Amino acid sequence: MEKVKCNLCQSDEEEVIFPAAGYWEYDEKFRVVRCRQCGLVFVNPRPAKEEINKFYPEERYWAGEFCEKDYRPIYRPILEGFPGSGKILDVGAGTGALLNFFKENGWQVFGNEVAKEMVDDASKNFGIKLEGKDTLEISFPDSFFEAIVFNNSLEHLYQPRETLMRVRGWLKPNGLLIVTVPNIESLGFKIFGQYWNSLQPPKHLYLFSPKTISKMLEKTGFKPMEVRHDYSVHNTYSLEQSLRFRFSPKFKEGVGAVLNKKPAKHSPYQLALPLFKIFGYLSIFILAKLEPILKKGEAITIYASKT
Ligand SMILES: [Zn+2]
Repeated sequence: MEKVKCNLCQSDEEEVIFPAAGYWEYDEKFRVVRCRQCGLVFVNPRPAKEEINKFYPEERYWAGEFCEKDYRPIYRPILEGFPGSGKILDVGAGTGALLNFFKENGWQVFGNEVAKEMVDDASKNFGIKLEGKDTLEISFPDSFFEAIVFNNSLEHLYQPRETLMRVRGWLKPNGLLIVTVPNIESLGFKIFGQYWNSLQPPKHLYLFSPKTISKMLEKTGFKPMEVRHDYSVHNTYSLEQSLRFRFSPKFKEGVGAVLNKKPAKHSPYQLALPLFKIFGYLSIFILAKLEPILKKGEAITIYASKT
């Protein structure tokens, strides 16, 4: 484990939000803190880089990747801004599905991904060759990309500020940066607290709000232009998983229980389950529709240009 200063403002003054927050996939608990100076929320202390892999169970970790209809509203500004196509970098590209969307639109696609299985998937499924390295270990020419995206990856990084500074140089002067991260000021976080699915310590090392992600972009040479709360598939998924994590006895028992056990028949829980489910899913449906209106989305997408 390593103790760190705030990655955004370097302060070491922090307040504890959760002394021991966990996630249903493993037993370990982590301290989640908020910087008293700038408000950035992060896991502290955190596992050293060499220890983090055990929290990414290969077959279960999915890269927040969805079908084209979910991408389209979020990434349309790239296609519209550069109609003749161009070059795009996806940092933490997962299985390459998002890059494939751009490839099909005539773009030259580039990405990196530290999970080897996903690099293999991207190659096998889409013929996309991803760099299997951290962003701080790869390089591109200056002013190379029309667009750079972080689709649910910045929160996983050990050095988000340094990474943003690095990619800034690779973006063309008129290029577009799009960052999607979980929102620590979402309705879901307010409702579920440490059972909020997107907390996921220590896979999510940093939890941003519209304010802290904007500050981080400004500090690294970007000008935030717009924050969106309507990445709808994230809103629905995060709320749904949070509800399960909070109330499902199976989730509370951890991974083995979720995958292998069924609750005993005729238990009070089993009898009330259909009602719970109807009420739960109805609430989620309504909350997910409300979040963009209230600007409290489970995930926020921020568009930025170079300053
Ligand atoms: Zn700070």
